[in-house]
Amino acid sequence: MATELVDGAPSRPAARPGYPARRPEADQDGPEMLNWAQNSVIGRASAVATPTTEPELQALLAASTGRVRMIGSRMSAGRMLELASAGDTLLDLSHLRGLLATTEGTATFGGATPLQEVYAVLTGMGRMPSAAPGVIAEQTLAGALATGTHGQGLQQSSIGDAAASIRMVLADGTALDLERDHPWFPAVQLGLGVLGVVTAVTLRTEPSLVYTCAKSAVSAAGLADDLARWSTENVMSKAWWFPDEDQVHVWTAREATPDEAEEWRRGGRQLVARAETSDVLNAAVDQTLATMRSDTRLADQDGKPFRTVTRFRDFSDVTGDVYQVFCRGIATPQINVEIGIPLARAAEVVQKLRAWHAETRPHLHYPVILRCTGASSAWLSPSPEATCFFGFVVYYAEDGSLSEEGVAFLRAVEEVLAAEGGRPHWGKYFDEALYDWPALYPQWAGFAEVRDALDPRHTFDNAFTARLFDRALAVR
Ligand SMILES: Cc1cc2nc3c(=O)[nH]c(=O)nc-3n(C[C@H](O)[C@H](O)[C@H](O)COP(=O)(O)OP(=O)(O)OC[C@H]3O[C@@H](n4cnc5c(N)ncnc54)[C@H](O)[C@@H]3O)c2cc1C
Repeated sequence: MATELVDGAPSRPAARPGYPARRPEADQDGPEMLNWAQNSVIGRASAVATPTTEPELQALLAASTGRVRMIGSRMSAGRMLELASAGDTLLDLSHLRGLLATTEGTATFGGATPLQEVYAVLTGMGRMPSAAPGVIAEQTLAGALATGTHGQGLQQSSIGDAAASIRMVLADGTALDLERDHPWFPAVQLGLGVLGVVTAVTLRTEPSLVYTCAKSAVSAAGLADDLARWSTENVMSKAWWFPDEDQVHVWTAREATPDEAEEWRRGGRQLVARAETSDVLNAAVDQTLATMRSDTRLADQDGKPFRTVTRFRDFSDVTGDVYQVFCRGIATPQINVEIGIPLARAAEVVQKLRAWHAETRPHLHYPVILRCTGASSAWLSPSPEATCFFGFVVYYAEDGSLSEEGVAFLRAVEEVLAAEGGRPHWGKYFDEALYDWPALYPQWAGFAEVRDALDPRHTFDNAFTARLFDRALAVR
């Protein structure tokens, strides 16, 4: 039986949250369901419901009395997904996937479609979404929207910004289609999974292009100025900053010339790597590998975490489609903290980070990942204006633990960036206590109003979202 929410109850976390240890040996078919990283129990396996059609989902929600949370590929931090009480439902929507419709400039996909399927289908049609991919594409489309998932490039923004319309099934079982010009659309574009079940997303698409990506390594001395220049002078760019070595590995992409594109086509549309390679980063790569090996103690020295660094060895320019160039991540369990800083302030913040690094010499486990995106129209987007994201990664050790120094670095660097007004990526790891959400997001109250209108009983709430909106979780 549902009861009303208690407004204004003290619900801020008293202590700083930790980064949970992994349970690599956890039984995937056991009584508990974990997130993808296997570092959080998100609920009982028996709580999972798997509707096979939208009408089935509607009937399920209309009849539901407990709390409900949607799961996609479960790649976000566990708190985004978890539900703890008996009677709660975790919705596995994997049947609601695939291409549903196309027009000349749009394509509609089921909300649970993995991004890699979206990309493959669109590539087959000679199209791509009007938003660059991130480093991996195992996420679902709806999961990407709920967390503001993004790639790189100032001429576009998050994947949700490519949405032309979004269809949701609400807590009472009714369906709602929202077009881009609807006043609530900016809330639904990045909904944190608290507004409704996204069952379909219509993406704006554009012709699929071929890109040539120039790769280089430069001194970090000029990074403060270079960062904005790389982003403004190129269609897309991305950089990895090795502070200990004072070096930056830079990728800048432009549309390929007709000759380069033709060479790519002749090669069977496979990534073309130029023969000329550079070894200037190899020493930095070796140093990073040594730190990672000592921190993770992973037996497999060629394991996935190490391959995310060894690929920077002997780099060369490449030509390929946007996924071949940028969507090359190796999905491996990690703690990933990513904080957005307005591009206009990025140079100043880079200088502060450089000074902080020189003074404190923190233990870095992986280079700092830098990528900028254009303004998002989503109210809760960490990139409300052109924004540079600073990403920090610590990989898990074989036994599921994390290096203490790596964790200390993550905590310290997040404090530095939060103090600069940084906004964290919703799907990654962050310390809630560092942020004043209404101050960071002018439309925070507006989002809460849309949520109250769409889900008045807060069916889609969990402990994390209740804390965010400063409410106690309803007892059901
Ligand atoms: C290895 C790795 C690499 C990553 N790379 C990037 C990157 O390059 N760029 C980037 O921006 N982020 C990146 N991320 C973050 C990732 O994109 C987000 O965590 C994303 O939310 C994961 O999608 P998912 O399908 O796994 O969603 P889940 O983790 O399953 O869910 C995330 C949220 O979406 C909600 N949700 C899921 N389905 C629905 C639905 N149908 N309707 C409404 N709400 C729903 C859930 O309730 C939850 O709140 C990465 C994460 C990992 C682990």
